[in-house]
Amino acid sequence: MTDSGYSGGPFLRPAVARVPHHAPGGTSSALRRLAANETPWPPPPSVAEALREAALWSHRYPDRGSRELTEALAERLRVPMEHLATGTGSVGLLKQLLQSTVQHEGDEVAYAWLSFEAYPHLSAVAGARVRQIPLRDERHDLEALADAVGERTRLVIVCNPNNPTGTTVRRAELERFLDRVPERTLVVLDEAYREFVRDPDVPDGLEHYRDRPNVAVLRTFSKAYGLAGLRVGYAVAAAPVAAALRACAVPFGVSGPAQYAALAALRTEDELMERVNLLVSERKRVTDGLRALGYSVPGSEANFLWLRLGERSVCFAAACAEAGVLVRAFPGEGVRVTLGLPEENDLVLRAAAGADAAAP
Ligand code: PMP
Repeated sequence: MTDSGYSGGPFLRPAVARVPHHAPGGTSSALRRLAANETPWPPPPSVAEALREAALWSHRYPDRGSRELTEALAERLRVPMEHLATGTGSVGLLKQLLQSTVQHEGDEVAYAWLSFEAYPHLSAVAGARVRQIPLRDERHDLEALADAVGERTRLVIVCNPNNPTGTTVRRAELERFLDRVPERTLVVLDEAYREFVRDPDVPDGLEHYRDRPNVAVLRTFSKAYGLAGLRVGYAVAAAPVAAALRACAVPFGVSGPAQYAALAALRTEDELMERVNLLVSERKRVTDGLRALGYSVPGSEANFLWLRLGERSVCFAAACAEAGVLVRAFPGEGVRVTLGLPEENDLVLRAAAGADAAAP
C-alpha cells in the first residue's frame, strides 16, 4: 500500500483521502508463496469443472441473491436462509457491516491489535474512530475489549483465530464478553480460519449468534476451501443484520464463477477437509521444529504461524526469501508464515535454522 500523499479535493471525504491505497502492481514472484494464508493447492477437478462451465455464462449477470449457494450453506450450517448473506469475500461483508453501522463522526469501531490489517483500513474508509486494544501474551484481551465498548461503539470485532498470531479466544471468555457488550453494539466474529480449528474449547460463532441479535459471524471460501482468487465469503446473523448486508451489497458482486465454484467446493468438502487435515498436521510439525530451534511460537489454530521477532523480522523474511519462500514480515513486530506443502515448510525450517533469529 502507498500513501497517496493527496490531501483531497472538496468533494472527497477527508477520511478517504487520507487512507493508504493499493496502487496497481503485481504480486508475481518466483518464490513459494507462504505470505497470504492461501491454500497451496489449486481447486480440485470438480471445482475446476464448475468454473469452466460457469465461465461460459459470463455474458449474463449472476444470480444477485446467490440462491443456490445460500441454500447449500443453509443446509450445511443448519441455519435459516434469511440468516445468511454472501459477499465478495469476508472483507466485502465486513465493509458492508461497517457501512450498515457507522453513521456519524465519532462513531467507533473496537478490535484487538495486532490483528487483521483490513480492520483499521476499512474502519478508516467508513469514517470511524478506532479503538485498538493490545493483545496480551499474543491473545485477545476480551475484558479490556469489553471495557473499551462505549456509547459510541457501533461495532466490535473479535478475530478468532486471530490473524496474524493464530491464537484463539475460549468459549467461556467469549460468553462473558458477549454478555458484557450492550445490544446497541454489533459484535463481528471473524472466523476466516474456522475450519483449521481443532481445539474443542474454541467456540464456534454459530453457537452464539442464535440468541443474540447483535452477533454476526463472518466466514470465507478463501482459506480452507481454496478459492481466495474468486472472492466469496458469507455472513451468518439475525435476519435484520443479514438483510442490511444484502442492502449494502454491490449489486451482482459475487460473480457466477464464484458462486458455482463455492457450491462445488461445498459438494467436495470431504476432499478439501483432507487437505485442511494435512495443513493441521504440518502446523504441529513446523511449530515443534521451530520451537526446537529456539523460536517462541504461540500455539496456532489457523493455517499460519506467528514468530514475534521484533526488529529481527525483516532479516528472518530475507533469510526465507533466500531459501525460496515468501513469508510475511510485519516490521518491528514479527513474521507470519503460512503453512504450505511439506516441502515448502521444510524450506522455512531450513531458513529458520540458519537465520540466527531465534531468541537473542
Ligand atoms: N478475516 C481474516 C482474519 C483474514 O485473515 C482474512 C484474509 N487474510 C480475511 C478475513 C479475508 O478473507 P476474504 O478473502 O474472505 O476476504
